[in-house]
Amino acid sequence: MPKYYEDPYLKELEVRVVSRRGDYLKFDDTIFYPGGGGQPHDTGYFKGENFLAEIIDVKKDEDGIWHMIRKLNGEPEDKGKIYIDWERRYYLMKSHTGEHILYRSLEKLYPVRFVKVEFNVPESVIFIDGRLSIDDIEKAEEMANSIVSSNIPVTVEVEALEDSGDIRIRRDRIREGEIRVVRIGDFDSSACAGVHVKNTGEIGRIHVKKIKYSRENEIFFVVGDEALKEIEISKNAYRRISHLLNDFSNVYEKIVKMKTELDKLRDDYYKITEGMFRFENYTVNGINVYFTKEEIGDI
Ligand SMILES: [Zn+2]
Repeated sequence: MPKYYEDPYLKELEVRVVSRRGDYLKFDDTIFYPGGGGQPHDTGYFKGENFLAEIIDVKKDEDGIWHMIRKLNGEPEDKGKIYIDWERRYYLMKSHTGEHILYRSLEKLYPVRFVKVEFNVPESVIFIDGRLSIDDIEKAEEMANSIVSSNIPVTVEVEALEDSGDIRIRRDRIREGEIRVVRIGDFDSSACAGVHVKNTGEIGRIHVKKIKYSRENEIFFVVGDEALKEIEISKNAYRRISHLLNDFSNVYEKIVKMKTELDKLRDDYYKITEGMFRFENYTVNGINVYFTKEEIGDI
């Protein structure tokens, strides 16, 4: 089992190069997650006494895990230490665990089906089948945050497929009859190859930033400090809008009404300007005169 599974909290590791393929190095072990299940690979450094190289890509194939290096200083030797960009990786661990919780909340409340997930820093996206309203998603977000603040342990076990019982298998996680099962107390069990935090409390907060309707329902979310930052931005925007409207209790209803009125005005405007193209234009003593026989309503 690679070190990133054994202890996902390791930030550095002493390694030996066991194989080279151009710019790609294979070490005797690694803390670098090679990517998979929507979670991107780690980035970081390979450092020795006489050299420093950046690790810019990590790939996994049948021969092992390969780290693409970009030399910064000196020639990489066979012994050194690897360091992961911990801030980025820890954020991805929080997002990944947060995604299990948010998706499971959606699934508990509505008849949705998971399509895929894409993790990025700071914004990740869950794609689901089934159209949900803002109200629906807010309910699921609330449920997810109650799981986050309940400090529930997250455990990982490799189990035989036939023993796994009622596990949500969302991705191609079955290898030789075994699956890696990630459990969040009794709230969620799912087969997953990613790296996760040990306790839901570490996520801090899950915040749905926006929803996009394409062929699927795309739910964009952020976690931790990024979530708090977004909540702060929303809070300030709400206060400014309330101030602008001079209404501190029915802001949303007021804006819905304004939008309906604006849409109607826009419609009327298009009808009128469309009519204008049918006007005939004469010049009488240097003055433009427009003339139409059509009924254009009140102007
Ligand atoms: Zn996962």
